[in-house]
Formats: sequence, C-alpha cells, structure tokens
Amino acid sequence: MATSAYWRTRFQRYRLIGNRCKECGKVFFPPRFVCPACGSVKLEEYKLPERGKLVEYTVVYTAPKGYEVMTPYVIGIVELEDGVRVLAQITDVDVEDVKEGMEVEASIRRLPEQLEGGMICYTYKFRPVIK
Ligand SMILES: [Zn+2]
Repeated sequence: MATSAYWRTRFQRYRLIGNRCKECGKVFFPPRFVCPACGSVKLEEYKLPERGKLVEYTVVYTAPKGYEVMTPYVIGIVELEDGVRVLAQITDVDVEDVKEGMEVEASIRRLPEQLEGGMICYTYKFRPVIK
C-alpha cells in the first residue's frame, strides 16, 4: 500500500470505523462518501463492534511479496455483532483449527513491512475469542 493511502485510512484501520447512511441506515466498512443503496451523501461515522463470528474463510498458501513468512494464513469474512461483514486475516490460531461459525474478536497488529520513512503499518485482524 502506498504511504498516502495508508495515511488517509489510518484511523479506520486502528479503530474499525465505518459509516452509516442517515437516510436508509445501511452501514459501510470501509467508509464511503455516497450510500450505494440509496445515493444519499448524508453519512455519519459509525464504530463497528469488535466481536463477531467467522462465516467463511480461505487458507492462503501463496502470499504476495513480503508476506511469504506468514503462509499459510487464513483470510475470512467476519460477521460482526451488528450484522456488518468485514474481510480480515484470522490470527492466533492454527490453520487446521479454524472453523466456520467460531467467535472472533478484533486485534490491532503490526504489518510485517515498513513503508518509506520507517513508518510502521498497523491493521486489524481477528482472533478466536478465548473462553
Ligand atoms: Zn442510504
């Protein structure tokens, strides 16, 4: 990701901030400028819940350059407690222990790369809820 794109989205990536349409109530993550459901531009900031369940996942064996050391890893669709779905890496679990329907929580992580200027990247991932 380019430094400027990273910078623009830094708060969303830290805090799971999306937005919600004031006209029709739909929630978006990442945030949008125009509601794709009704066309309204009246959108407000919306803090997403940090817990949900894994509804679908895939195991990645061939990673993009720079991420090879992380393979195999799991990318999944997490349905948050309010029904919003986000795509994220599932972490802190062995690939063979990942199951559809398992409860997960958000966790902020450092990415394994540094951008120009030494800026360290963070992003969100989800890990199983320990009971
Ligand atoms: Zn709308």
